[in-house]
Amino acid sequence: MARELAQSPADWDYVAAIADAKARIHIAEAQAGRAGSGVKLLVATKSWDADAASAAAAAGAVLVGESRMQELALKGEALRAAGAHVHVIGELQRNKAAIAVEFAECVQTVDSLKLAERLSRLCVEAGRELDVMIQVNVSGEESKSGVAPEEALDLASAVQSLDALTVIGFMTIGLNSPDEQSVRAGYRQLRELRDEALILSERGQRNLREAWNLSMGMSGDLEWAIDEGATMVRIGTAVMGER
Ligand SMILES: *Cc1c(COP(=O)(O)O)cnc(C)c1O
Repeated sequence: MARELAQSPADWDYVAAIADAKARIHIAEAQAGRAGSGVKLLVATKSWDADAASAAAAAGAVLVGESRMQELALKGEALRAAGAHVHVIGELQRNKAAIAVEFAECVQTVDSLKLAERLSRLCVEAGRELDVMIQVNVSGEESKSGVAPEEALDLASAVQSLDALTVIGFMTIGLNSPDEQSVRAGYRQLRELRDEALILSERGQRNLREAWNLSMGMSGDLEWAIDEGATMVRIGTAVMGER
């Protein structure tokens, strides 16, 4: 493996760190007029070793995010034993899709029909169902993966019609910028896409009734994301510590 996995600092208190993150989420929900709306915490355990990731899970991180499939192959069994539900939050190559199907409950980074078709085939073979989200590149930055916003609903509908996959929402990685208005504009765009998906599905013009999740916001900007409608925030450093 190219990168070395970080070990958990001996005195790190995962229970306290998770409680702090949940408190931040609850305050942000209240300030957004969304108190009690149940925004979920997903702890990004990528780049931490199996002991650190399972310690976070055992301390109450029910949802964990992994980015690299080589890492997930190493940690998957330990995470399962700790009761964690794994979401794939990094770019997924088709030749690594089997690892996701073995260990993940959700792949948040579907941005092509080809990848979805591969996941679908593997799931049918394994006799399982898989939740997926459509990753959208709202910032337009070339370095970011994700489908263009104007293609997102067509892709989502095509993915939803594949066997064994359920599109449960949309995911984006926010603009890496201190400019609040620009970051928020991207999150707002994702919410508007989601709203359109649900409204059209209600009218029978789309097949995306389950696609209500918005996975957006990280340690640095979760308050903005929740104010713009996030249903799940992905938190790494604020829970796991600096590595
Ligand atoms: C690592 C990661 C996060 C968490 O980032 P932090 O800034 O450490 O909270 C969120 N989303 C994705 C896709 C990540 O890879």
